[in-house]
Amino acid sequence: MNPNEKERKVADISRRDFVGGVLMAATLSTAERSVSAGVAPSVVAPAAHSPIDAPNVRAATSAPPADYPPARSGLRGQYPGSFEVAHELRDGGFAGDLHAVDTGEHYDLVVVGAGISGLSAAYFYRKALGDERKILILDNHDDFGGHAKRNEFFHNGRTYLSFGGSMSIETPFPYSFTAKSLLAELAVQPASYKRYERARRFTGLQPGVFFDREHFQADKVVAGWGSRSWREFFAEAPLSDEVRADLVRLHESATDYLPHLDPAEKARALKKMSYAQFLSTHAGVLAESLPFFQGGGWQFRNNMQLDTCPAYVAWRGGAPGFGGMTIAGEPKYAASEFHFPDGNASVARLLVSRLVPAAIAGDPDQESIILSPAAYARLDVVGAGVRIRLQSMVIRIEHMVAPDRATERAVNVCYVEHGVTKRVTAANVILACFNNVIPFLVPTLPAEQREALHYASKVPMQITNALVSNWLPFQRLGVTSIHAPNGYHQEIQIDTPLEIGGYESVRAAAQPVVIQMVRNPHVPGLPRREQNRLGRADMLATPFDKIETEVRAQLDRLLGLAGFDSDRDLLALTVNRWPHGYAYAYDTLGDPDVPEHERPHVLGRRAFGRIAIANADAGAGAFVNVAIDQAERAVQECLASRGLI
Ligand SMILES: Cc1cc2nc3c(=O)[nH]c(=O)nc-3n(C[C@H](O)[C@H](O)[C@H](O)COP(=O)(O)OP(=O)(O)OC[C@H]3O[C@@H](n4cnc5c(N)ncnc54)[C@H](O)[C@@H]3O)c2cc1C
Repeated sequence: MNPNEKERKVADISRRDFVGGVLMAATLSTAERSVSAGVAPSVVAPAAHSPIDAPNVRAATSAPPADYPPARSGLRGQYPGSFEVAHELRDGGFAGDLHAVDTGEHYDLVVVGAGISGLSAAYFYRKALGDERKILILDNHDDFGGHAKRNEFFHNGRTYLSFGGSMSIETPFPYSFTAKSLLAELAVQPASYKRYERARRFTGLQPGVFFDREHFQADKVVAGWGSRSWREFFAEAPLSDEVRADLVRLHESATDYLPHLDPAEKARALKKMSYAQFLSTHAGVLAESLPFFQGGGWQFRNNMQLDTCPAYVAWRGGAPGFGGMTIAGEPKYAASEFHFPDGNASVARLLVSRLVPAAIAGDPDQESIILSPAAYARLDVVGAGVRIRLQSMVIRIEHMVAPDRATERAVNVCYVEHGVTKRVTAANVILACFNNVIPFLVPTLPAEQREALHYASKVPMQITNALVSNWLPFQRLGVTSIHAPNGYHQEIQIDTPLEIGGYESVRAAAQPVVIQMVRNPHVPGLPRREQNRLGRADMLATPFDKIETEVRAQLDRLLGLAGFDSDRDLLALTVNRWPHGYAYAYDTLGDPDVPEHERPHVLGRRAFGRIAIANADAGAGAFVNVAIDQAERAVQECLASRGLI
């Protein structure tokens, strides 16, 4: 079968499984949705305010309607059609008078971005000022949640869930009181997580590594990465005797490779060298062994690769080579963890249930949220306290009078919805979007602040979800996950088996399952921010059919000898493309060593009159708790801007 025929096959299966859904919500009329919130409109916007006109409620046992956002397959994440207006703005479009249609709507707060930070900001604002406050949340995508997106597949009468981006409630540093309290108010108890895990379904299976024939001696998956003795593990790997001995030596090392330095000096030195330099120059690792460390692995976060990851970060993450060294370091905090079958989309959905109860009803908790239906047509309804308006890209925000003389109608917010430029007003605005986009939205920001907001370089990420007919090949190989150091995706896994809220994520090995694959595009040899930039460009230039061809080739190569055949076993594919993925976190190799208050994210997030800045970029940390904490700070600044605290 040629690649084109294969592509058709996935599309056909997806279509077949996604048609014939049972529609379960009452459709709202255009009139119900299109009038202003609280203030009589001077001009009513011509288009309906819910971008999705079909009722989008679903139940786990019925196929979703074709336009139900979580069930859309193909290219998702920052999908074609969602970002072009922003790129036009970046390239000088939308200059001068925008001739925006005045919707006549006025809000206490307009939030730009319906990710965890924007949703949290709306939650905190109402908590501070009361539920009668009117809030509009604008987002350019057809689904809420930002990076915390839900993917659904429907096959043979069953729904299969996966995460499209943000995976788990976890962090290398403790959750703040604010973030912990929010989770508690959403009825999420991280400590209860283990009760949902069904680890026994993976008894006898271990993490594996794929050794590829281009860098090693043959294609082979070896089980037991980090769970067997290194001698046993590498004994099965297709390696020359020299490379095998070299890798065993490093992993079992009790040698101090910087013997002339005390622990504090070691820490300082390791912060200033890459892990690649440490391995080659100090640990004497052979050039032929280095491909084993390419592509990150669990120890490298934020797209820090072999050549851009400070050796100190690698040490803290548990990378090999430091066993004989005493290094001064901050303690490693135990990360609390709660993993939903749809990742942190459940957190976003819980927030929406509190903000717009008509859309996700029943005050769900950490269990009942899993299969709670979401009525997308009810997200943006006239009269509701909070309205979430999707497919709406904000392009300009400006104070209507000098910020210090601002009245209730202080700020103009212009956005493009279905090609029409529209305008609402607000007393406060919170930018819970991306730092890089803010200077284009608020051109009147001081130059120094604009420059600071441009500094960060978002990390490109891809989470590919493949529904396959069974996971017998994983069982035959003895693995639950495969790390492919030099692969198109670097991580391939079956999700942790969970039973929660009436949903089972992994059943018997002969049953269908979602395989999750993670990719961090990068260009070795360049500074990390530049690698991120080129990775983003590469992602934007890569069409779905090319990605599908790569997915098929990689799965056939990794799992083929264990019986996988993508022509037969690949049922549906959703590629979550996040060129603007993780918030950029600083490193000690490429970023200036300056005090925290001089960091670009701190300079960039200063409130500007009635406009405050939230989002994970404002905390320089790619974690849910950072997004929540920044939301809370931005709300405090809004209240201060109006003399309310
Ligand atoms: C692939 C991936 C995996 C992750 N895994 C984890 C994890 O396991 N655990 C964890 O704690 N964190 C994880 N994170 C990080 C965490 O999810 C994020 O820090 C957090 O969700 C960010 O929330 P946010 O609201 O700040 O930004 P976002 O989620 O990016 O939301 C911002 C929203 O604003 C929209 N927007 C931007 N500009 C405009 C505009 N002009 N007009 C309208 N809308 C606009 C964006 O499109 C987006 O929808 C992950 C992130 C990614 C990308």
